[in-house]
Amino acid sequence: MRKPFIAGNWKMNNTRAEARELVTALKPLVASVDGVEIAVAPTFTCLQDVAELLKGSNIELSSQNISYAAKGAYTGEISADMLKDVGCSHAIIGHSERRQYFGETDESVSKRVRAALDNGIVPIVCIGESLDEREAGKTFDVVLGQLVNGLSSVKREESATVVIAYEPVWAIGTGKTATPEQAQEVHAAIRAKLAELFGQDNADAIRLQYGGSVKASNARELLGQKDIDGALVGGASLKADDFAAIIKAAVA
Ligand code: PEP
Repeated sequence: MRKPFIAGNWKMNNTRAEARELVTALKPLVASVDGVEIAVAPTFTCLQDVAELLKGSNIELSSQNISYAAKGAYTGEISADMLKDVGCSHAIIGHSERRQYFGETDESVSKRVRAALDNGIVPIVCIGESLDEREAGKTFDVVLGQLVNGLSSVKREESATVVIAYEPVWAIGTGKTATPEQAQEVHAAIRAKLAELFGQDNADAIRLQYGGSVKASNARELLGQKDIDGALVGGASLKADDFAAIIKAAVA
């Protein structure tokens, strides 16, 4: 039985004061929620403040990226060691905004995944097709290609810890959500590919999040699909009430 996992990607939002306010509002709303893993991913500048507030709560801390290098001359990067030091247990890797605006590739994703696993950080690996790719009938080629290449550094025995976020690029921040059937179809294909890569037992243990305009109003139906084990939530994670409602939908 896979435990649902809801993560909030705050993207480039919130000053430290705003981040503290958001997490302070969120904590009591979800404190009694059982059976769901919960994480928030603030910007790097807010990690320390949020980590302090999350101590003793049922909310984990994620970064929005992680360096593939251990240390040294990598200006602008943050290493796994540094993330662990500040309290991160998870790292979002290969978000479509990183791929689209900052040149991240499946190769760099694979290296970042390796760095995370080597340091006991759970990678949340993002994959997804663009609208053009979907309309050209390339969804499965693109998504499964990103999956295979992005996970090329993962060993079978560690694969069950990895989290995959399927996020159709056309659904991110657009208000357009994949229908539950569209999302389930891709999730099922992802799980089948994971079984080829890592064996059925591991594939059955890997959590697959859906991401793309998830809101309180559509979360329940999406999360009710057989292969959808959680959500990576952008916009709606910036409001404590909305994010809490999505978290509660995972166990409703
Ligand atoms: C995301 O940033 O991963 C995301 C899914 O954003 P949104 O929920 O705003 O579409």
